[in-house]
Amino acid sequence: MEKLINYTTEAFRLAFHSEPEHIFLAPGRINIIGEHVDYSDGFVLPAAIDKHICFAVKKADDPETCSFFAKDFDDSFSFNINQKQTPVSQVWVNYLLGVFNAVQESGKKVGGLEIAFSSTIPMGSGLSSSAALECGFAFILNHIFDLNLTKKDLALIGQKSEHTFVGVNCGIMDQFASVFGKEHQVIMLDCNSLEHQYFEANLDDYSLVLFDSCIKHTHLTSGYNDRRKDVDKGKKILWEKFPEIEKFRDFSFSMLDKVRAEIGETPYKRCLYLLKEIKRVEKAAKALSEGDVKYLGELLTETHSGLSTEFEVSCEELDFMVAETLKERDVAGARIMGGGFGGCSINLIKDENVDEVIKNISAKYKTDFDIEMKVYRVKISDGIYEYKRNEIII
Ligand code: ADP
Ligand code: MG
Repeated sequence: MEKLINYTTEAFRLAFHSEPEHIFLAPGRINIIGEHVDYSDGFVLPAAIDKHICFAVKKADDPETCSFFAKDFDDSFSFNINQKQTPVSQVWVNYLLGVFNAVQESGKKVGGLEIAFSSTIPMGSGLSSSAALECGFAFILNHIFDLNLTKKDLALIGQKSEHTFVGVNCGIMDQFASVFGKEHQVIMLDCNSLEHQYFEANLDDYSLVLFDSCIKHTHLTSGYNDRRKDVDKGKKILWEKFPEIEKFRDFSFSMLDKVRAEIGETPYKRCLYLLKEIKRVEKAAKALSEGDVKYLGELLTETHSGLSTEFEVSCEELDFMVAETLKERDVAGARIMGGGFGGCSINLIKDENVDEVIKNISAKYKTDFDIEMKVYRVKISDGIYEYKRNEIII
């Protein structure tokens, strides 16, 4: 962390020829379990992690100008805060402009800033570097200009920025986790109502390790849209038959079985996965808080199999990775994480055997797919915060 902070501070000095007044850290996130259920009244179980975008910040002498230096791209951008903002060709800028725009639209008064930032969250690997960027900036504006925005506001502003300026129709989980994360705790979140509850993450002597397949299949968007269509078809018929049910999560398996022939085999499989996954999230939160890592691992592995065979959003590379990981000693569970068709697997591995598993899976993946897998060992950490150096009193 010190390294990232020093590196970003140095970038700030280079870009703005002065010292930053504040340092902020915005984390990426993992999702322990609860995949694809966010748009079906389900819960998700994300947590912030110890990978961050670090922002070095100073109020600008010119109160009308905001300037950014994105150290990881060696790219800069400035704009006049009184002019109407529209999306620009530098993609990374849009996450920030969208936030600025959303804050101004809400009637809040903001001024000029100088910001340099750099990150240890890999971009585009499913650890939500984008939410860290948006919400980190929203947090900064709120903090420096005393806007009195709530944490919920910050998460919603981040999401809005992605919808309006970036054009990605994302859910709220990523932003929520980056803002609301707490060390050693996971968040059980209802993405509809935003009701949430924290659970202790008692992982005992197990670690969370992510294996990045470095694969991004192009049918992610079309696959996602097709799944939504299938699920909507299933839901429509379920509600026609059982109008008294209020939330999708309250349909029972026997209700689903009763409409199986009518909704067709594919929508049936998709809905079956969702109902099972929603139940798994509740079981997982309990297992985690009770320190039952073995059972938690079993649930993760069940999720993988559901995502692979019922929801059908896995891919050859991830199925291979997960299957091989599960053959290793001291692995409690493994699954594909995120929307599917590539990205990372999330694995629960006993501390003492983590190095061995990494070595073996990397070698096998390289042999079969000729790809160097990336590895991220993560710890559950706090949401966005201002970093203060401990003052040493002599
Ligand atoms: P993910 O959120 O899973 O990491 P996304 O595709 O949603 O992947 O967001 C990645 C985008 O966010 C990058 O392409 C870039 O525009 C922006 N971004 C993330 N981190 C940084 C960074 N350190 N510097 C500049 N832009 C960043
Ligand atoms: Mg993202």
